[in-house]
Parts: sequence; C-alpha cells; structure tokens
Amino acid sequence: MSTLFVNAHVVTMDDVGTEHPGGWLLVDDGYVQSTGSGTRPEADEVVDLGDAVVTPGLINTHHHLWQNLTRARAQDENLFGWLQALYPVWAAIDEEAEYAAARAGLAELALSGCTTVFDHHYLFPPGRSGLLEAEIRAARELGVRIVASRGSMDLGESDGGLPPDSIVEDRDDALAATEAAAQLADGDLVEIAVAPCSPFSVTKELMRESADLARRLGLRLHTHLAETVEEEEFAQERFGCTPVEYLEELGWLAADVWCAHCVRRALPELQYAARRGHRTRPRVARRRRSRRPRGGRLGVERARRPLPGGQTGAARRTSARGAEGADGTGRPQARHSW
Ligand SMILES: [Zn+2]
Repeated sequence: MSTLFVNAHVVTMDDVGTEHPGGWLLVDDGYVQSTGSGTRPEADEVVDLGDAVVTPGLINTHHHLWQNLTRARAQDENLFGWLQALYPVWAAIDEEAEYAAARAGLAELALSGCTTVFDHHYLFPPGRSGLLEAEIRAARELGVRIVASRGSMDLGESDGGLPPDSIVEDRDDALAATEAAAQLADGDLVEIAVAPCSPFSVTKELMRESADLARRLGLRLHTHLAETVEEEEFAQERFGCTPVEYLEELGWLAADVWCAHCVRRALPELQYAARRGHRTRPRVARRRRSRRPRGGRLGVERARRPLPGGQTGAARRTSARGAEGADGTGRPQARHSW
C-alpha cells in the first residue's frame, strides 16, 4: 500500500539542506521511499497535507517514562535528595502503573514530533514483572518506535549506594533478566539496550558484566554519567577518580555506548581521553543543565535517516511508522556527539 502526501513543504535535513516547497513525499509499506516537487509519482492513495511542513521525526535519546507518575514531587531538591524522596514511591511500580505512565509519556513525545523514544528503565524492584512489556505494549499501540532498556541497580544503601536495599536487585538476577529482555526486540519498532543506572546505584561488577553481556548479544550500552556535583563527589570518595575516569576503567569508553548528561567537566575529559588514544568514544545525550531533576528529562534531537538513493526524509504529519525513514534499525541515530 503506497501513499503520496502532497502539498507540503518538505524539509529533508539531508547534508545539503534540500527542501521542497509545494512538495510531495511517497510512503510505501510504512517507509518513506522518496521526496520531491513537481511531477508526482503514482500511488495507491493521495493525501493533501494543506501546506504542512514535513520534517524527519525527532529521536529522544534519554527518558524515564515511569517518572511521569511523580513529576510534581520534590522539585526543590538536588539530584540525590530528589532520588531519595522518590525511591520509596517508585518502589510501588507495577505493570499497570508502568503502562499508564508510558502511554502518557509516549503520547506527549509523539505530539511533539518524536517518533523514536529511548526509555532508560532501571527500576525493577525484586519480584515485579511485566514492566518492560507494558511500555513496549504502549509504544506499539501508539505507533512509536521504542528503544527500551533493561537497566539495573544493585548497589543499595547498606553497601554505600543511594537507593534503598528494597529496590535493588541481585547482580546475577539482573543480568539474567537483561539477557531474557533481549528477546523482546522485534528488529523493527522495538529495540533493547543494556543500561545499568549510575555510579552511585550500580556496582563495578555489574557495570563490567553488563558491558560483557551487551557485547555478547550485540546490544548497545547506556548509563548516566557526570550528572551533578554530588555524583562527582561520590566518585572521588568511593573510587578516587572522576566519573569519566571511572567509566574508562570499566571499559565503557567505546562506540557502542551513549551516556546521559555529561555536564560539568565530562565533555572535556571525554575529548581528552579520545586524544590519549581511545579509538572510539561514547556518544552523549546531553542537556545543557541538569541540576534540577524532573521526571521526563528529554534529550530530543534531530533524526537523520538516509533513504535509498541518499535522500533523507520523514513525514511528521504521517503515522509514526511512516515517519521513520528507511533504515529500519530503530537505533538512536544522529545523537549529539562532539
Ligand atoms: Zn536519566
């Protein structure tokens, strides 16, 4: 089934900035096949967009969908205070709550033009099941491509971590559940990533073994890095180094990794590490400021999905599936990097 969207200002976002005023866009089997202006190709149906601007879909690179449920809480706290206020509330997460939060969060993102969402889900209280499945179900219902992470926390308060012991997992259980979650990927609209939470909630062992697992399964890696001054202080006190040096020690400075935030001194440090001989370097989903945490932090950036023939394009006014270009990988592409 092919559909030709006409009467649109098509902004392809290709390398030379091609735009088609009064243009058209051909979608076939859910993928953008070509864009242009002037002579229109044949199609099974034609849809008039009424002078709409058509752009590639946006790609979200860092979110915590379940935090939509607690957005208004503890807003005057710093990161650690905010987390400590909310951990006990989040401990009650279940499949129904996860689904409701994901529906609301994904709908908000879709309405803003976002067609691929990365959800950093690291909250898996022991004994709770169906959380990732619930958010994937919500994404499928809304037609949004999702990169869902099986994150983890295993460093509880009694071992010097920030989260209460009641919501951290046993390391082996977390790794086994992560390997099982890899089966949820469908090669199209659902991708799975491995994403232990942060230096103050995950042990070194779980960081290393998560990386080993992800590389064995061919999955991407994600974590928080250098989010606040409190995290820097924690890393100095516990590991005797900066968060970036800590990641380097763990073998996480690599091209299959992208990190959230990297504020303060992290970017210069990562650049310096690259100059010192790291052949590859992680990408960064970055907010300019990250002092004041809120549920629903966004790292939304421009999507560039090459089409056959070298064009790039997607229709914001079409369905989310139709807006995803042609590569079909579902990978968060064109993230901010330096
Ligand atoms: Zn985050």
